[in-house]
Amino acid sequence: MFDIVGSNNIRVIFVFDIVGSMYMTDMITYADTDVVVVGAGSAGLSCAYELSKNPSVQSSSTLLDLFTSTIMSKLLARPNVKLFNAVAVEDLIVKDGRVGGVVTNWALVSMNHDTQSCMDPNVMEAKVVVSSCGHDGPFGATGVKMLKSIGMIDSVPGMKALDMNTAEDAIVRLTREIVPGMIVTGMEVAEIDGAPRMGPTFGAMMISGQKAAHVALKSLGLPNAIDGTYVGGIHPELILAAVDSAEIAEA
Ligand SMILES: Cc1cc2nc3c(=O)[nH]c(=O)nc-3n(C[C@H](O)[C@H](O)[C@H](O)COP(=O)(O)OP(=O)(O)OC[C@H]3O[C@@H](n4cnc5c(N)ncnc54)[C@H](O)[C@@H]3O)c2cc1C
Repeated sequence: MFDIVGSNNIRVIFVFDIVGSMYMTDMITYADTDVVVVGAGSAGLSCAYELSKNPSVQSSSTLLDLFTSTIMSKLLARPNVKLFNAVAVEDLIVKDGRVGGVVTNWALVSMNHDTQSCMDPNVMEAKVVVSSCGHDGPFGATGVKMLKSIGMIDSVPGMKALDMNTAEDAIVRLTREIVPGMIVTGMEVAEIDGAPRMGPTFGAMMISGQKAAHVALKSLGLPNAIDGTYVGGIHPELILAAVDSAEIAEA
């Protein structure tokens, strides 16, 4: 390639050539993937990590404390997960009433469409999309807000007032495939269901993410904990969460 030791002649363009072509090659490689996880908070990372245990599943995360940095380091070592930083999902691909992928752009472009000329987006087709976009806000709950804007769900009522005793179980129990092809996990779930917030006790995010991964595996027709076909180590709460009965899930 080129020798940088003792050289004053590093040409920036060489560096850009390598970095730029690696990134763009990844975007093209992952333009057709099994699962796209939108949002790299605690729920999204947990979901991607759980999915990565199945080597036949390829997933991409547009995707950040101690937990997130630890799981991030493990996730980046997985051969079947690709994380795209500085990338935002700004629209969905919908075919015949089923979510079939995402439309992406650089996050800063997505946040400034009103202040500059349009910039062409990129796309990722996926068999399943997992939305883990967090609370409502400038960059929150974007997955469910997109579904509402195109009429696939009726409302996004927002989370209810704090109730620690019911909040975490509700997040896990209500993690599900909300419309064909799209699963919602983490605090974004509270935004669609009007579930209460719980304050800084975010253990439910990890279990919700783990559950979302198994809902995705089920959708892909692969062994999963939802229908009991998975053989492996599963957080015991997930088994409860997989049960439809609210009474059991909240036990
Ligand atoms: C107002 C507020 C209330 C809170 N209340 C609670 C609470 O009740 N309980 C609690 O446990 N914690 C609460 N928290 C703390 C914390 O937000 C959550 O616990 C935890 O971070 C939620 O995890 P998550 O994975 O669902 O979402 P987040 O950690 O918020 O992760 C979502 C990620 O998705 C990314 N993202 C969003 N849209 C897009 C897009 N279109 N494309 C690409 N990426 C996208 C975001 O940038 C972010 O990185 C609160 C935080 C706020 C700001």
